[in-house]
Amino acid sequence: MPELPEVETVSQGLAKVLVGKKISGFDCDTPKMLNYPLKKYAAIIRSLEVVAVKRRAKMIILELTSDWRILIHLKMTGQLVFRGKGECLIGGHTIDKSCEQLPNKFTHATFTFSDRSRLYFNDIRKFGWLRLHRQEELEKLFVKMALGPEPLTREFTPGKFAKSLLRRPKSKIKQFIMDARNVVGIGNIYADEVCFFSGLRPDRRVESLGQTEIKKIYQGIKKILTAAIAARGTTFSNYVNSNGEAGSYAKKLKVYQRYGRKCLRCGGEIKRQKVGGRTSSYCPTCQK
Ligand SMILES: [Zn+2]
Repeated sequence: MPELPEVETVSQGLAKVLVGKKISGFDCDTPKMLNYPLKKYAAIIRSLEVVAVKRRAKMIILELTSDWRILIHLKMTGQLVFRGKGECLIGGHTIDKSCEQLPNKFTHATFTFSDRSRLYFNDIRKFGWLRLHRQEELEKLFVKMALGPEPLTREFTPGKFAKSLLRRPKSKIKQFIMDARNVVGIGNIYADEVCFFSGLRPDRRVESLGQTEIKKIYQGIKKILTAAIAARGTTFSNYVNSNGEAGSYAKKLKVYQRYGRKCLRCGGEIKRQKVGGRTSSYCPTCQK
């Protein structure tokens, strides 16, 4: 599943091409992806303009005029493809040749804009969704989802982070940072990377952490997510434009899925273990 850096990359890419566009049509062949019947959904958004594209946790928000918002979750295999005059932008899960054939057999929703450009929602397993909400509804929804702070904003402070750790002392650190109630946007890739950066085994209990270790995790979250956004994310996110740019953080990963290979810091062997049902890679020498 795309994590914060991948979803942020998609949002930033879409913002560049969608803001100011007016919706002239919408179609969807999978009712469960929507929270309104198709006819009503399409009637509400027709003639509305895209004002902004934002992100909250791992969701993309299309802000429309008249205070309507479309909340998009890519889930396991979702992909957004924008095609305009001479440009094609792909975000989310990789599906081969997405720009060549549109719509294709994985296309389940299509937004058409007044300039005839289109935004396609492709999804192999159909777990993704595009839900329509009023702005004020959205705020309540985020509260209901019990979403924790955005790690790259000022609401995520060292003090608040330390306090949140006290609430779940028995939790393993990797599970803790992957739990959106504590901090949003971190999945398996970046959780492994943060643990390596912090010198902590993914299964370390929160209650065993010292002040310096807590500080290191906090710094690791900020540093690694920021670097990953700058590199346009990892593997999952292919952002392709006329310049052919794609996400390149995969080359910078220090530990994720490197089990059986040499640790880049000490040369020892990277091991793996299951933490909360997820395969985790770590270095037994560098991580305590
Ligand atoms: Zn090592």
